[in-house]
Amino acid sequence: MYLSIALLILVNLASLVSPVAIPNKRLPPRIDYDTIIVGGGPAGLAALSGLARVRRKALLIDSGEYRNGLTRNMHDVLGHDGVTPAYFRHSARGQITTYKTVSFTNGTVTKITPGRNPVSPGTSFFTVTADLNTTVGPTTKQLTTRKVILATGLIDVIPSTPGLAENWAKGIYWCPWCDGHEHADQPMGLLCDLNDAVGAFREIITLNSDVIAYVNGTDTPEYRALNDAAFPGWEKYLAEHNVKIENRTIISIKRVKDGSEGVHDPSLPSTAEFDLFDIELANKTDGNDVREIHQRGVFFTSFPSKQRSSLGEETGVYMYSPGRLGVDQNMRTNIDGIYAAGDANSDNSTNVPHAMYSGKRAAVFLHQKLSQEDSVWEVTRLLGSKFVKKGTRFQKLDPRLIWRMMNGRSREDDILHAGDFDP
Ligand SMILES: Cc1cc2nc3c(=O)[nH]c(=O)nc-3n(C[C@H](O)[C@H](O)[C@H](O)COP(=O)(O)OP(=O)(O)OC[C@H]3O[C@@H](n4cnc5c(N)ncnc54)[C@H](O)[C@@H]3O)c2cc1C
Repeated sequence: MYLSIALLILVNLASLVSPVAIPNKRLPPRIDYDTIIVGGGPAGLAALSGLARVRRKALLIDSGEYRNGLTRNMHDVLGHDGVTPAYFRHSARGQITTYKTVSFTNGTVTKITPGRNPVSPGTSFFTVTADLNTTVGPTTKQLTTRKVILATGLIDVIPSTPGLAENWAKGIYWCPWCDGHEHADQPMGLLCDLNDAVGAFREIITLNSDVIAYVNGTDTPEYRALNDAAFPGWEKYLAEHNVKIENRTIISIKRVKDGSEGVHDPSLPSTAEFDLFDIELANKTDGNDVREIHQRGVFFTSFPSKQRSSLGEETGVYMYSPGRLGVDQNMRTNIDGIYAAGDANSDNSTNVPHAMYSGKRAAVFLHQKLSQEDSVWEVTRLLGSKFVKKGTRFQKLDPRLIWRMMNGRSREDDILHAGDFDP
Protein backbone atom coordinates (compact mmCIF):
# COMPACT_ATOMS: atom_id res chain seq x y z
CA MET A 1 0.00 0.00 0.00
CA TYR A 2 2.72 2.47 1.07
CA LEU A 3 4.76 1.36 -1.92
CA SER A 4 1.98 2.07 -4.43
CA ILE A 5 1.35 5.55 -2.87
CA ALA A 6 5.07 6.32 -3.15
CA LEU A 7 5.05 5.16 -6.79
CA LEU A 8 2.00 7.32 -7.53
CA ILE A 9 3.74 10.37 -6.03
CA LEU A 10 6.87 9.67 -8.10
CA VAL A 11 4.83 9.30 -11.32
CA ASN A 12 3.00 12.56 -10.60
CA LEU A 13 6.27 14.34 -9.84
CA ALA A 14 7.69 13.05 -13.08
CA SER A 15 4.68 14.36 -15.01
CA LEU A 16 5.16 17.72 -13.30
CA VAL A 17 8.76 18.08 -14.38
CA SER A 18 8.47 16.57 -17.86
CA PRO A 19 7.36 19.80 -19.67
CA VAL A 20 10.56 21.57 -18.56
CA ALA A 21 13.15 21.46 -21.34
CA ILE A 22 16.24 19.50 -20.45
CA PRO A 23 19.30 21.15 -21.99
CA ASN A 24 20.59 19.00 -24.81
CA LYS A 25 24.34 19.27 -24.68
CA ARG A 26 24.64 17.89 -28.19
CA LEU A 27 22.70 20.78 -29.76
CA PRO A 28 25.19 23.07 -31.54
CA PRO A 29 25.20 26.66 -30.27
CA ARG A 30 23.31 29.01 -32.57
CA ILE A 31 24.81 32.01 -34.35
CA ASP A 32 22.08 34.35 -35.61
CA TYR A 33 23.67 35.41 -38.90
CA ASP A 34 26.46 34.62 -41.31
CA THR A 35 26.81 38.37 -41.80
CA ILE A 36 25.42 41.60 -40.42
CA ILE A 37 25.74 44.60 -42.74
CA VAL A 38 25.76 48.03 -41.13
CA GLY A 39 24.39 50.67 -43.51
CA GLY A 40 21.84 50.45 -46.32
CA GLY A 41 23.16 52.81 -48.99
CA PRO A 42 24.36 51.38 -52.33
CA ALA A 43 27.37 49.67 -50.69
CA GLY A 44 25.34 47.83 -48.05
CA LEU A 45 22.58 46.93 -50.52
CA ALA A 46 25.09 45.55 -53.04
CA ALA A 47 26.65 43.40 -50.32
CA LEU A 48 23.23 42.15 -49.25
CA SER A 49 22.31 41.32 -52.84
CA GLY A 50 25.53 39.34 -53.33
CA LEU A 51 24.97 37.35 -50.15
CA ALA A 52 21.33 36.74 -51.07
CA ARG A 53 22.38 35.20 -54.38
CA VAL A 54 24.43 32.53 -52.59
CA ARG A 55 21.80 32.02 -49.85
CA ARG A 56 23.83 33.35 -46.95
CA LYS A 57 21.85 34.32 -43.88
CA ALA A 58 22.39 38.07 -43.65
CA LEU A 59 20.77 41.05 -41.95
CA LEU A 60 21.20 44.69 -43.00
CA ILE A 61 20.65 47.36 -40.35
CA ASP A 62 20.29 50.93 -41.66
CA SER A 63 19.84 54.27 -39.92
CA GLY A 64 18.81 55.94 -43.20
CA GLU A 65 21.05 59.04 -43.35
CA TYR A 66 22.41 58.69 -46.88
CA ARG A 67 25.20 60.93 -48.17
CA ASN A 68 23.24 61.81 -51.31
CA GLY A 69 19.96 62.00 -49.41
CA LEU A 70 19.43 65.67 -50.31
CA THR A 71 20.31 65.57 -53.99
CA ARG A 72 17.61 65.95 -56.62
CA ASN A 73 18.69 63.16 -58.94
CA MET A 74 21.38 60.54 -59.06
CA HIS A 75 23.67 60.49 -62.11
CA ASP A 76 26.37 58.42 -63.77
CA VAL A 77 24.99 55.12 -62.50
CA LEU A 78 24.39 52.93 -65.55
CA GLY A 79 20.75 52.03 -66.06
CA HIS A 80 19.69 54.46 -63.31
CA ASP A 81 20.97 57.80 -64.65
CA GLY A 82 18.64 60.57 -63.45
CA VAL A 83 16.49 58.64 -60.97
CA THR A 84 16.16 59.88 -57.40
CA PRO A 85 18.43 58.14 -54.86
CA ALA A 86 15.29 57.11 -52.95
CA TYR A 87 13.86 55.38 -56.04
CA PHE A 88 17.15 53.57 -56.60
CA ARG A 89 17.15 52.20 -53.02
CA HIS A 90 13.45 51.34 -53.24
CA SER A 91 14.00 49.41 -56.45
CA ALA A 92 17.04 47.55 -55.01
CA ARG A 93 15.19 46.68 -51.81
CA GLY A 94 12.18 45.43 -53.77
CA GLN A 95 14.33 42.99 -55.70
CA ILE A 96 16.37 41.83 -52.70
CA THR A 97 13.17 41.17 -50.72
CA THR A 98 12.40 38.25 -53.04
CA TYR A 99 15.40 36.34 -51.67
CA LYS A 100 14.51 34.40 -48.56
CA THR A 101 17.73 34.20 -46.57
CA VAL A 102 18.37 37.91 -46.20
CA SER A 103 16.47 40.71 -44.48
CA PHE A 104 16.79 44.36 -43.54
CA THR A 105 15.61 46.54 -40.74
CA ASN A 106 15.75 50.19 -39.68
CA GLY A 107 18.00 50.88 -36.74
CA THR A 108 21.39 52.00 -35.53
CA VAL A 109 24.22 49.68 -34.61
CA THR A 110 25.81 51.06 -31.45
CA LYS A 111 28.44 48.46 -30.63
CA ILE A 112 30.31 45.54 -32.19
CA THR A 113 31.98 43.20 -29.73
CA PRO A 114 34.35 40.53 -31.04
CA GLY A 115 34.15 37.22 -29.16
CA ARG A 116 35.01 33.52 -29.23
CA ASN A 117 33.17 31.58 -31.91
CA PRO A 118 31.27 28.83 -30.04
CA VAL A 119 30.79 26.68 -33.16
CA SER A 120 34.09 26.99 -34.95
CA PRO A 121 36.76 28.08 -32.45
CA GLY A 122 39.45 30.28 -33.89
CA THR A 123 37.20 31.90 -36.48
CA SER A 124 35.57 35.30 -36.19
CA PHE A 125 32.43 35.93 -34.16
CA PHE A 126 30.72 39.16 -33.07
CA THR A 127 27.91 40.35 -30.88
CA VAL A 128 26.24 43.32 -32.51
CA THR A 129 24.19 45.68 -30.35
CA ALA A 130 21.57 47.66 -32.24
CA ASP A 131 18.72 50.05 -31.46
CA LEU A 132 16.03 48.79 -33.80
CA ASN A 133 12.76 50.41 -34.87
CA THR A 134 10.33 47.51 -34.93
CA THR A 135 6.60 47.53 -35.61
CA VAL A 136 5.99 47.39 -31.86
CA GLY A 137 8.31 50.30 -31.15
CA PRO A 138 12.00 50.88 -30.46
CA THR A 139 13.99 48.05 -28.92
CA THR A 140 17.65 47.29 -28.22
CA LYS A 141 18.85 43.89 -29.44
CA GLN A 142 22.02 41.89 -29.26
CA LEU A 143 22.58 39.75 -32.34
CA THR A 144 25.38 37.33 -33.09
CA THR A 145 27.14 37.00 -36.40
CA ARG A 146 30.21 35.45 -37.98
CA LYS A 147 31.13 38.44 -40.15
CA VAL A 148 30.37 42.16 -40.30
CA ILE A 149 30.39 44.56 -43.25
CA LEU A 150 30.68 48.23 -42.39
CA ALA A 151 28.96 50.27 -45.12
CA THR A 152 28.39 53.29 -42.92
CA GLY A 153 29.29 56.03 -45.41
CA LEU A 154 30.65 59.54 -45.06
CA ILE A 155 29.23 62.92 -44.15
CA ASP A 156 30.28 66.18 -45.82
CA VAL A 157 31.65 68.82 -43.46
CA ILE A 158 29.97 72.01 -44.66
CA PRO A 159 31.29 75.36 -43.32
CA SER A 160 28.92 77.51 -41.30
CA THR A 161 28.70 80.31 -43.91
CA PRO A 162 24.98 81.19 -44.14
CA GLY A 163 23.33 79.62 -47.17
CA LEU A 164 25.77 76.74 -47.70
CA ALA A 165 24.09 73.99 -45.69
CA GLU A 166 20.62 75.24 -46.66
CA ASN A 167 21.32 74.91 -50.39
CA TRP A 168 23.64 71.89 -50.28
CA ALA A 169 22.97 69.37 -53.07
CA LYS A 170 20.62 71.76 -54.87
CA GLY A 171 22.86 74.05 -56.90
CA ILE A 172 25.83 73.73 -54.50
CA TYR A 173 27.64 70.48 -55.11
CA TRP A 174 30.72 68.50 -54.46
CA CYS A 175 31.04 66.20 -57.49
CA PRO A 176 31.10 67.39 -61.15
CA TRP A 177 30.36 63.86 -62.43
CA CYS A 178 27.23 63.73 -60.27
CA ASP A 179 25.78 67.18 -60.99
CA GLY A 180 27.96 69.12 -63.46
CA HIS A 181 26.17 68.24 -66.70
CA GLU A 182 22.88 69.74 -65.50
CA HIS A 183 24.65 73.11 -64.95
CA ALA A 184 26.97 73.14 -67.97
CA ASP A 185 27.73 76.53 -69.55
CA GLN A 186 26.29 78.42 -66.59
CA PRO A 187 28.20 81.02 -64.51
CA MET A 188 30.06 78.89 -62.00
CA GLY A 189 31.74 79.48 -58.67
CA LEU A 190 34.40 77.30 -57.09
CA LEU A 191 34.34 77.35 -53.27
CA CYS A 192 37.83 76.23 -52.29
CA ASP A 193 41.16 77.23 -50.78
CA LEU A 194 43.68 78.75 -53.21
CA ASN A 195 45.75 75.56 -53.32
CA ASP A 196 42.71 73.57 -54.53
CA ALA A 197 41.68 76.05 -57.24
CA VAL A 198 43.67 74.57 -60.13
CA GLY A 199 42.55 70.99 -59.37
CA ALA A 200 38.91 72.05 -58.97
CA PHE A 201 39.01 73.97 -62.25
CA ARG A 202 40.61 71.09 -64.16
CA GLU A 203 37.71 68.87 -63.11
CA ILE A 204 35.08 71.15 -64.63
CA ILE A 205 37.10 72.50 -67.57
CA THR A 206 34.97 70.63 -70.12
CA LEU A 207 31.72 71.87 -68.59
CA ASN A 208 32.02 75.58 -67.81
CA SER A 209 34.00 78.57 -69.06
CA ASP A 210 32.73 81.46 -66.90
CA VAL A 211 34.40 80.53 -63.63
CA ILE A 212 35.29 82.46 -60.45
CA ALA A 213 37.29 80.75 -57.69
CA TYR A 214 36.08 82.11 -54.33
CA VAL A 215 39.08 81.35 -52.13
CA ASN A 216 37.73 83.17 -49.04
CA GLY A 217 40.91 84.87 -47.80
CA THR A 218 43.35 82.08 -48.65
CA ASP A 219 45.17 84.03 -51.38
CA THR A 220 48.19 84.44 -49.13
CA PRO A 221 51.96 84.03 -49.72
CA GLU A 222 51.82 80.59 -47.99
CA TYR A 223 49.09 79.27 -50.26
CA ARG A 224 50.75 80.81 -53.33
CA ALA A 225 53.96 78.97 -52.39
CA LEU A 226 51.99 75.69 -52.24
CA ASN A 227 50.65 76.35 -55.74
CA ASP A 228 54.10 77.32 -57.06
CA ALA A 229 55.51 74.03 -55.79
CA ALA A 230 52.64 71.90 -57.13
CA PHE A 231 52.15 73.56 -60.52
CA PRO A 232 54.58 76.32 -61.51
CA GLY A 233 52.77 78.73 -63.86
CA TRP A 234 49.41 78.06 -62.20
CA GLU A 235 48.40 81.72 -62.23
CA LYS A 236 49.04 82.07 -65.98
CA TYR A 237 47.12 78.83 -66.61
CA LEU A 238 44.07 80.10 -64.72
CA ALA A 239 44.27 83.52 -66.41
CA GLU A 240 44.51 81.83 -69.82
CA HIS A 241 41.16 80.19 -69.09
CA ASN A 242 39.72 83.42 -67.73
CA VAL A 243 39.33 81.96 -64.22
CA LYS A 244 39.17 84.85 -61.73
CA ILE A 245 40.50 84.49 -58.17
CA GLU A 246 38.21 86.20 -55.66
CA ASN A 247 39.83 86.49 -52.23
CA ARG A 248 37.20 88.47 -50.31
CA THR A 249 35.45 86.82 -47.37
CA ILE A 250 32.14 85.20 -48.25
CA ILE A 251 29.37 86.70 -46.07
CA SER A 252 26.50 84.58 -47.33
CA ILE A 253 25.00 82.74 -50.28
CA LYS A 254 21.32 83.34 -51.01
CA ARG A 255 19.12 81.46 -53.41
CA VAL A 256 17.45 83.62 -56.06
CA LYS A 257 16.00 80.83 -58.21
CA ASP A 258 15.29 77.14 -57.63
CA GLY A 259 16.55 74.96 -60.46
CA SER A 260 14.14 72.18 -59.61
CA GLU A 261 11.22 74.39 -60.68
CA GLY A 262 9.45 73.19 -63.80
CA VAL A 263 8.81 69.66 -64.93
CA HIS A 264 11.62 67.14 -64.77
CA ASP A 265 10.94 64.31 -67.17
CA PRO A 266 12.00 61.19 -65.23
CA SER A 267 12.60 59.30 -68.47
CA LEU A 268 15.48 61.67 -69.33
CA PRO A 269 18.86 60.98 -67.72
CA SER A 270 19.91 64.66 -67.65
CA THR A 271 17.84 67.84 -67.69
CA ALA A 272 19.30 71.35 -67.34
CA GLU A 273 18.69 72.90 -63.90
CA PHE A 274 18.72 76.69 -63.72
CA ASP A 275 19.52 77.66 -60.14
CA LEU A 276 20.65 81.19 -59.35
CA PHE A 277 22.45 82.48 -56.25
CA ASP A 278 23.62 85.80 -54.85
CA ILE A 279 27.05 85.45 -53.24
CA GLU A 280 27.76 88.36 -50.90
CA LEU A 281 31.41 89.35 -50.38
CA ALA A 282 32.96 91.58 -47.73
CA ASN A 283 35.31 94.18 -49.07
CA LYS A 284 38.21 93.96 -46.68
CA THR A 285 40.86 95.46 -48.90
CA ASP A 286 40.04 99.17 -48.51
CA GLY A 287 39.00 98.96 -44.84
CA ASN A 288 35.41 100.06 -45.59
CA ASP A 289 32.39 97.89 -45.03
CA VAL A 290 31.60 97.81 -48.73
CA ARG A 291 29.84 94.67 -49.80
CA GLU A 292 29.50 93.32 -53.27
CA ILE A 293 27.15 90.73 -54.68
CA HIS A 294 27.96 88.37 -57.53
CA GLN A 295 25.41 86.11 -59.22
CA ARG A 296 26.32 82.49 -60.02
CA GLY A 297 24.23 79.63 -61.35
CA VAL A 298 26.10 76.82 -59.60
CA PHE A 299 28.92 76.20 -57.11
CA PHE A 300 31.33 73.32 -56.77
CA THR A 301 33.11 72.87 -53.47
CA SER A 302 36.23 71.23 -52.02
CA PHE A 303 34.99 70.70 -48.48
CA PRO A 304 36.30 67.81 -46.38
CA SER A 305 34.27 64.77 -45.39
CA LYS A 306 34.39 62.45 -42.39
CA GLN A 307 33.00 59.11 -41.21
CA ARG A 308 29.23 59.12 -40.72
CA SER A 309 29.69 56.70 -37.83
CA SER A 310 32.41 56.20 -35.22
CA LEU A 311 31.51 52.50 -35.03
CA GLY A 312 34.47 51.25 -37.08
CA GLU A 313 37.05 53.24 -35.17
CA GLU A 314 35.51 52.27 -31.82
CA THR A 315 35.70 48.60 -32.82
CA GLY A 316 39.41 49.01 -33.52
CA VAL A 317 39.44 49.26 -37.31
CA TYR A 318 42.66 50.87 -38.47
CA MET A 319 41.95 54.40 -39.72
CA TYR A 320 43.74 55.36 -42.89
CA SER A 321 44.35 59.04 -43.68
CA PRO A 322 42.11 61.09 -44.15
CA GLY A 323 39.89 59.26 -41.64
CA ARG A 324 38.92 56.26 -43.76
CA LEU A 325 38.41 52.63 -42.68
CA GLY A 326 41.57 50.89 -43.89
CA VAL A 327 40.94 47.91 -46.21
CA ASP A 328 42.93 45.61 -48.47
CA GLN A 329 41.85 44.83 -52.03
CA ASN A 330 39.25 42.37 -50.74
CA MET A 331 37.70 44.99 -48.42
CA ARG A 332 39.11 43.27 -45.32
CA THR A 333 39.97 45.52 -42.40
CA ASN A 334 42.67 44.75 -39.84
CA ILE A 335 40.05 43.00 -37.67
CA ASP A 336 39.47 39.41 -38.77
CA GLY A 337 35.85 39.10 -39.92
CA ILE A 338 35.17 42.83 -40.39
CA TYR A 339 34.97 44.26 -43.91
CA ALA A 340 34.42 47.86 -45.00
CA ALA A 341 32.76 48.97 -48.25
CA GLY A 342 31.58 52.14 -49.97
CA ASP A 343 32.54 55.74 -49.25
CA ALA A 344 33.73 54.85 -45.72
CA ASN A 345 36.66 52.71 -46.81
CA SER A 346 40.19 53.69 -47.78
CA ASP A 347 39.73 53.19 -51.56
CA ASN A 348 39.15 56.96 -51.63
CA SER A 349 36.67 56.56 -54.44
CA THR A 350 33.36 57.99 -53.37
CA ASN A 351 30.54 57.37 -55.81
CA VAL A 352 27.64 54.96 -56.23
CA PRO A 353 29.33 52.61 -58.74
CA HIS A 354 32.30 52.22 -56.39
CA ALA A 355 29.98 51.66 -53.44
CA MET A 356 28.25 48.85 -55.35
CA TYR A 357 31.53 47.33 -56.56
CA SER A 358 33.13 47.31 -53.12
CA GLY A 359 29.96 46.01 -51.41
CA LYS A 360 29.79 43.17 -53.90
CA ARG A 361 33.52 42.43 -53.56
CA ALA A 362 33.23 42.27 -49.77
CA ALA A 363 30.30 39.85 -50.17
CA VAL A 364 32.20 37.59 -52.56
CA PHE A 365 35.31 37.40 -50.46
CA LEU A 366 33.39 36.96 -47.23
CA HIS A 367 31.26 34.15 -48.67
CA GLN A 368 34.39 32.31 -49.75
CA LYS A 369 35.93 32.81 -46.33
CA LEU A 370 32.85 31.41 -44.61
CA SER A 371 32.86 28.37 -46.88
CA GLN A 372 36.55 27.86 -46.26
CA GLU A 373 36.05 28.03 -42.48
CA ASP A 374 33.16 25.58 -42.73
CA SER A 375 35.27 23.16 -44.77
CA VAL A 376 37.98 23.13 -42.10
CA TRP A 377 35.34 22.58 -39.42
CA GLU A 378 33.89 19.68 -41.42
CA VAL A 379 37.28 18.07 -41.92
CA THR A 380 37.95 18.38 -38.21
CA ARG A 381 34.64 16.70 -37.47
CA LEU A 382 35.29 13.93 -40.01
CA LEU A 383 38.92 13.21 -39.26
CA GLY A 384 39.37 14.47 -35.71
CA SER A 385 40.96 17.58 -34.33
CA LYS A 386 44.46 16.11 -34.30
CA PHE A 387 44.58 16.65 -38.06
CA VAL A 388 43.53 20.29 -38.03
CA LYS A 389 44.81 22.73 -35.50
CA LYS A 390 42.22 25.20 -34.27
CA GLY A 391 41.82 28.08 -36.67
CA THR A 392 44.20 26.62 -39.24
CA ARG A 393 43.47 27.80 -42.76
CA PHE A 394 42.54 25.09 -45.21
CA GLN A 395 45.39 26.02 -47.55
CA LYS A 396 47.87 25.51 -44.75
CA LEU A 397 46.79 21.92 -44.08
CA ASP A 398 49.39 19.22 -44.46
CA PRO A 399 49.21 17.92 -48.07
CA ARG A 400 49.26 14.41 -46.60
CA LEU A 401 45.98 15.17 -44.88
CA ILE A 402 44.36 16.27 -48.15
CA TRP A 403 45.60 13.03 -49.76
CA ARG A 404 44.13 11.07 -46.92
CA MET A 405 40.83 12.94 -47.17
CA MET A 406 40.61 12.09 -50.88
CA ASN A 407 41.33 8.42 -50.32
CA GLY A 408 38.96 8.18 -47.39
CA ARG A 409 38.40 4.54 -46.53
CA SER A 410 39.09 3.31 -50.05
CA ARG A 411 41.54 0.48 -50.37
CA GLU A 412 44.55 0.44 -52.69
CA ASP A 413 42.75 -1.53 -55.41
CA ASP A 414 39.68 0.73 -55.17
CA ILE A 415 38.85 2.85 -58.24
CA LEU A 416 38.52 5.92 -55.97
CA HIS A 417 41.95 5.39 -54.46
CA ALA A 418 44.19 8.37 -55.36
CA GLY A 419 47.39 6.40 -54.96
CA ASP A 420 50.07 6.90 -52.38
CA PHE A 421 51.11 10.35 -51.25
CA ASP A 422 53.53 11.76 -53.81
CA PRO A 423 55.05 15.10 -52.68
C1 LIG B 1 25.23 65.97 -52.90
C2 LIG B 1 25.74 64.65 -53.36
C3 LIG B 1 25.32 64.13 -54.56
C4 LIG B 1 25.82 62.92 -55.01
N1 LIG B 1 25.39 62.45 -56.22
C5 LIG B 1 25.94 61.31 -56.71
C6 LIG B 1 25.58 60.86 -58.01
O1 LIG B 1 24.80 61.50 -58.71
N2 LIG B 1 26.18 59.73 -58.47
C7 LIG B 1 27.10 59.04 -57.73
O2 LIG B 1 27.60 58.02 -58.20
N3 LIG B 1 27.43 59.44 -56.48
C8 LIG B 1 26.86 60.55 -55.96
N4 LIG B 1 27.22 60.99 -54.71
C9 LIG B 1 28.09 60.13 -53.88
C10 LIG B 1 27.23 59.06 -53.23
O3 LIG B 1 26.25 59.66 -52.43
C11 LIG B 1 28.06 58.12 -52.36
O4 LIG B 1 29.18 57.67 -53.08
C12 LIG B 1 27.24 56.89 -51.94
O5 LIG B 1 26.10 57.30 -51.25
C13 LIG B 1 28.07 55.96 -51.06
O6 LIG B 1 27.28 54.90 -50.67
P1 LIG B 1 27.50 54.19 -49.25
O7 LIG B 1 26.57 53.05 -49.24
O8 LIG B 1 28.93 53.97 -49.00
O9 LIG B 1 27.07 55.30 -48.17
P2 LIG B 1 25.66 56.01 -47.91
O10 LIG B 1 24.83 56.03 -49.14
O11 LIG B 1 25.97 57.31 -47.28
O12 LIG B 1 24.94 55.03 -46.87
C14 LIG B 1 25.47 54.81 -45.57
C15 LIG B 1 24.33 54.35 -44.67
O13 LIG B 1 24.87 53.81 -43.46
C16 LIG B 1 24.03 54.24 -42.39
N5 LIG B 1 24.73 54.11 -41.13
C17 LIG B 1 25.82 54.79 -40.69
N6 LIG B 1 26.15 54.40 -39.46
C18 LIG B 1 25.25 53.45 -39.09
C19 LIG B 1 25.06 52.68 -37.91
N7 LIG B 1 25.86 52.79 -36.87
N8 LIG B 1 24.02 51.80 -37.87
C20 LIG B 1 23.19 51.67 -38.95
N9 LIG B 1 23.34 52.39 -40.08
C21 LIG B 1 24.35 53.26 -40.15
C22 LIG B 1 23.70 55.69 -42.79
O14 LIG B 1 22.59 56.18 -42.06
C23 LIG B 1 23.41 55.50 -44.26
O15 LIG B 1 22.08 55.14 -44.47
C24 LIG B 1 26.75 62.20 -54.23
C25 LIG B 1 27.17 62.73 -53.00
C26 LIG B 1 26.69 63.94 -52.57
C27 LIG B 1 27.17 64.49 -51.27
